[in-house]
Amino acid sequence: MSTIKTERRNLDKSRAHFQEAVKHMPLGVSSNFRYWGDDNTIFVKRGKGARLWDIDGNEYIDYRLGYGPAILGHCHDTVDAAAREAQPVGTVYALGTEKEVTVAKLIKEMMPAADLVRFSNSGTEAVMAALRLARGYTGKDNYVTFEGSYHGLFDATMWTADPDDMKDQSKDPRVITYGQGIPQLVRQLFWQVPYNDAQRLEDVLKKNHDTIAAVLIEPILGNCCGIPSKPEFIKAVRELCTKYNVLMIVDEVKTGFRVAKGGAQELYGIQADIFTVAKAMANGYPISAIGGREEIMRKYGKGVAHGGTYTAQAMSLAAAEATLTILKDTDALKNIAAYGQAMQDGMRKVLSKRGIPHSFTGHQSMSGLFFSAEAPTTYRNWKLSDYTFYDTMAGYLIDMGVMCEPDSREPWFISAGHDKACLDETLAKFEEAVDLTL
Ligand code: PLP
Repeated sequence: MSTIKTERRNLDKSRAHFQEAVKHMPLGVSSNFRYWGDDNTIFVKRGKGARLWDIDGNEYIDYRLGYGPAILGHCHDTVDAAAREAQPVGTVYALGTEKEVTVAKLIKEMMPAADLVRFSNSGTEAVMAALRLARGYTGKDNYVTFEGSYHGLFDATMWTADPDDMKDQSKDPRVITYGQGIPQLVRQLFWQVPYNDAQRLEDVLKKNHDTIAAVLIEPILGNCCGIPSKPEFIKAVRELCTKYNVLMIVDEVKTGFRVAKGGAQELYGIQADIFTVAKAMANGYPISAIGGREEIMRKYGKGVAHGGTYTAQAMSLAAAEATLTILKDTDALKNIAAYGQAMQDGMRKVLSKRGIPHSFTGHQSMSGLFFSAEAPTTYRNWKLSDYTFYDTMAGYLIDMGVMCEPDSREPWFISAGHDKACLDETLAKFEEAVDLTL
């Protein structure tokens, strides 16, 4: 985490609010990741488009977008109007509503791997449901994940290659839990293999496919610097899953409806057996979905449990319909990618002029910035980057009103609300922040 500066901002109100909040809530926030230190934890007043304002009135150009969802920009008029119009439908009935089919059809149209769709509320719930479905369908319990992935808060996936055990690149790093409270017993159920290494995946599948239900993959590591799958790698994963009779679950919680209308599956020309989508789907309203092959998806209802009090909530569905319609029918994603490219070009100019080695990862709409000439291809070489330079620079940028992620492992997200004024301001401040960091 960077040392966030507070030389240009007044944070009196956020600091006072934090002192009150921490009396009532652990760390004063509703997610550990929102705590940036007692003096640096800020509270948002409102957002509009690509900008947000904290309760002290400081303005920021937002490149975090709530970790991705606000793809059309904050408080998008059309999406919010659709959600408001759905209010009279009510909240929850433990019964279906009509719009579920409308949104399911939109997802099917945009993502051909979806013969059928089920809704959940969050990314975690969708991935949890997808893994259970794979186990129910195959009758097998084990699974494979990749180093550097994040698939949500549940026990099965809250494991990571230990970033402090990567010095010796010839051996596998320890696999540890993200924090306490996760039973060690779970470790017996999965293999974690290096990203972009199809041979290592095949070694595991060849020996153990009889016990493995699924390979769970993020097509772009959305919580690890935006490291992308090499096209030949993700195609090999698809082929290996078919060859060894193991399901391929593509976790598109971050990439879905963002890197292309059909997500990373369209970008790479592959089809999952089961996939998950969430963030960009409803511009921030809580909803997620699981999609997949018909005979697999029909297991819901034939033995595999799935449900949830809040699934397919009416306002979230309406927001999803409005968001997906815009993403499907307009050039929003093209414009987002063009902005991302222009931002990378501008940053490259600044860094090259100063002889600073750098590289970009991911997709223009969610890209990582690295201070090494070569971009990392696995979590194992993430630390080849001068991440302390990133951290210091990010601390200056936030103070100047460019809200990037303080941790270099999270990509910069672009929305349709980012315009030329945002770009010019960002690049001017980026140059200043780089010079202050040098
Ligand atoms: N899967 C991926 C790829 C994610 O990036 C995330 C969240 O960042 C999740 C799952 C979990 O989603 P949520 O935070 O909505 O539970």
